Amino acid sequence: MTTMMNNDDETFEDMASDGWISQQRRLWRAGGCPSGDVIDAMRASHNVSKKGPSGVSAVDYNQVAGSLVGWHNGDDHIIPDAACDDYEALGLDPVTEDQMGKDWFAFDVWRFQKDHGLYPNGYLDQTTWDKLLSTYAPVADEDDYIVISGSRQRVDADMSEIDYRTFHTHRKYDLSRFKHYKKRKANADVRLIVMHWGGFDIDHLARVFSTPNRKVSSHGAFGPDVFAQYYDLKTATTWHAGYVNRFSIGFDIAQQPGVSHLARYKAKDYDVEIIDHPKPRRPGTPKKILSIEPRTLATAAAVVRWVAREVGIPLQVPRHKDGSLSYDVFDRQTLQNGEFKGIVGHFHISGRKWDPLPWWTQFAEALGTVPDGQAAENSST
Ligand SMILES: [Zn+2]
Repeated sequence: MTTMMNNDDETFEDMASDGWISQQRRLWRAGGCPSGDVIDAMRASHNVSKKGPSGVSAVDYNQVAGSLVGWHNGDDHIIPDAACDDYEALGLDPVTEDQMGKDWFAFDVWRFQKDHGLYPNGYLDQTTWDKLLSTYAPVADEDDYIVISGSRQRVDADMSEIDYRTFHTHRKYDLSRFKHYKKRKANADVRLIVMHWGGFDIDHLARVFSTPNRKVSSHGAFGPDVFAQYYDLKTATTWHAGYVNRFSIGFDIAQQPGVSHLARYKAKDYDVEIIDHPKPRRPGTPKKILSIEPRTLATAAAVVRWVAREVGIPLQVPRHKDGSLSYDVFDRQTLQNGEFKGIVGHFHISGRKWDPLPWWTQFAEALGTVPDGQAAENSST
């Protein structure tokens, strides 16, 4: 039996020999490497729950989850130095270390979770990673971020060509003062992203949403290489699509489809042209429309993909049984009961709406969604 020494002189090995510590180790330890099945299950469940599946030890989870959650780049883990100063074992690499190192990594994740009011299970999952970053690497005004549940979430490194203008740093996009929204609980079940078109551009749409007698709003809007965020994605219900508002996020493609706007967009160097409305076309809608600006399309797809992952919404669009895209209107119960979760157009919700039907096929392709059972083998970024 060793005597407990002053914390500063203690090594991991010293601590490991302590009875209490050994007992704790059993809670998050498992032997060997996770099997392929376990890894597949973890990957599959990651997008939905963003937590480790039950039955997987923290050591197994941390060996595989790093690149999914974002704290491991494949070669090295990228945990802020300041965090490793406070939690020394976070400086170990849970992928390449020996079993002892892997245990200690899980242990310090567990300690960090306990110290910061998180459920302590030793998994460095998305919630824990977000807390670690907000504690040790706060996101600055000039960083690329999107606001979810009041906290700034850094976007992925490969999304840096987009200009993020959020209501945190751009007062003209802080539309909450016009009160065209409702507060939503941070733990609300947000399971749908609804795409619209609105306004001529993000500034024009912000003005539309601030007009007192027009009680409409959406969470944000896309332009060429720009995303304006008007409301918190989780804690605000915006008014964009009727009965689905309370469980959805609404986004606008800030471009109009009418051919009469061609000159306006050409003058702003938009890469748009007049095209035939692709099939299907709803009765009473124009045969000719403007194409969607390619940079706006790419921006919308990248941000929606990222938001779906962060919020835990499946990256899928409505499809028929044979896998082809569905342009049909949902019956209310299907969406209200949560039988479909994913990304839809306004035209999927109301037969009287056609936004953004003419651009939908392109958008679904840009998102990279594939029918169930046809796993995207090479869609990883
Ligand atoms: Zn709409």
